[in-house]
Amino acid sequence: MSADTTELLNQAARRRTFAVISHPDAGKSTLTEALLLHAHVLNEAGATHGKAGRKATVSDWMEMEKDRGISISSSAIQFTHDGLVFNVVDTPGHADFSEDTYRVLTAVDSVIMLLDAAKGMEPQTMKLFGVCKQRGIPIITVINKWDRPGHDALALLDEVQERTGMRPTPLTWPVGISGDFHGVLDIRSGEYVQYTRTPGGSTLAIEKRMTPQQAEAAMGETWTTAVEEAELLTLDGYEHDLEDYLAQRSTVVLFAAAVLNFGIGQLLDVLSELAPPPHARPDADGAPRPLEAPFSAQVFKVQAGMDRNHRDRLAFARICSGIFHRGDVVTRAATGRQLATKYASGVFGRERETIEEAWPGDVIGLVNAGDVRAGDSLYLEEPVTFPEIPTFPPEHFRQASAMDPSKHKQFQRGIEQLDQEGVIQVLRSERRPSQMPILAAVGPMQFEVVSHRMEHEFHAPIRLEQLPLGLAMGIQKQDAPAVDAYPGAEAAERSDGTWLALFADSWQARWFGQRNPDVTLESLTHDH
Ligand code: GDP
Repeated sequence: MSADTTELLNQAARRRTFAVISHPDAGKSTLTEALLLHAHVLNEAGATHGKAGRKATVSDWMEMEKDRGISISSSAIQFTHDGLVFNVVDTPGHADFSEDTYRVLTAVDSVIMLLDAAKGMEPQTMKLFGVCKQRGIPIITVINKWDRPGHDALALLDEVQERTGMRPTPLTWPVGISGDFHGVLDIRSGEYVQYTRTPGGSTLAIEKRMTPQQAEAAMGETWTTAVEEAELLTLDGYEHDLEDYLAQRSTVVLFAAAVLNFGIGQLLDVLSELAPPPHARPDADGAPRPLEAPFSAQVFKVQAGMDRNHRDRLAFARICSGIFHRGDVVTRAATGRQLATKYASGVFGRERETIEEAWPGDVIGLVNAGDVRAGDSLYLEEPVTFPEIPTFPPEHFRQASAMDPSKHKQFQRGIEQLDQEGVIQVLRSERRPSQMPILAAVGPMQFEVVSHRMEHEFHAPIRLEQLPLGLAMGIQKQDAPAVDAYPGAEAAERSDGTWLALFADSWQARWFGQRNPDVTLESLTHDH
């Protein structure tokens, strides 16, 4: 093996590329900050938090995000800790932006799934567990907000098992019920890790390790209860098994209170030890691209306007194989066209640092990425195309037009760009004038982003009229007239060339199907 290959494999093995995901409000931003604080990337927790009235977070960048206190777009943060390199790929916080979240999941090797101890499994949690299982992404479940009254720990485990079919395997066990959080039992060593708040709670929690004897002397019954519960877990088969975790048959469970920085040290340790490093990724034909093959990457997100001073488009790509050197001229698999990477950057929230080289698992931001789209594969030397990123069936439809008809050009440009970024899907119907496309979204919040960006970024305020449609099915082009002839239904062509039949609801689609047995309606499933 050449020295270069050895270096590359070593660099890949040091990487942990993951996302923190959850139902909104479970504490994703807080936990991400706590991780950075713990790894000494930040000096003070809270210094980067972006919720209303507080200082801006590293991962918030749009004005709108600040206004609304939600995180809409994705960025990546890299930090090193104990000789390992962690890439945290940030995910949007709002339930409506699930499509974005799913794209991010194509860029990571594992996830941290947060549960709110008082809420347990929530709708978005269920969806995310499902997608991770489907995509083969191992899950570390963190039960957060243990400092607040919530469910019983054993009941939470049962809920996880029942709702996901995955065996929960705790590596720490809370000492003290939810709302009375003193520390955790480290299940594998049997030790007690005691947490103490620092005054004000804004700096690292104080962690003290004790032997079981010391713990019993300090905590009495609270400790013995935790030990008894942990023994029950073993009897019930809730024991950690690496193979099962990697195959999503089980999920590792930890307890934490992100806001107090409790449990964060254990989380970092577990990530270091168990989260898988990058591995050979299968291409569209299922053949794995070895890590040591020449550079390849997949774009998972395209964004504009991250930096108000440099209006440009930034494509985020995850490196799948090889080494990346700034300045490489890479090929875009979809078009065969070349892309100069003179302005590649590593991304740390809103601050961009120019990077010189990057390795498998790393996320690079390519500035001036032209017409690159989410899902595109990039490579050097040996061509490769990675599987398409799944898209989701839109359920919300609006007719769009420029408020000021003289701004038509800006309007077109803006719509086209938002389409390419995947912010919305753009449909054209023969029944409507060409300057009035239909915008389709998975969640209605997407339209607010469109309105905001059309006005502020493209200077073409937009009028959106709600359409009485709620379901899109795939059809063949020749069936479009039959759809248009059916009352209330409409045929439209998506910008990727797919023809869609738009219906009010599934009832209408079914009636249509009965009257038109020759027309095949295809459901727009998650994967292409
Ligand atoms: P996100 O929407 O998932 O990013 O959630 P945030 O990190 O913004 O947290 C949502 C709310 O929960 C905020 O008010 C946080 O301060 C609070 N929070 C987060 N973690 C904890 C925790 O461990 N304990 C308590 N009590 N509150 C928390």
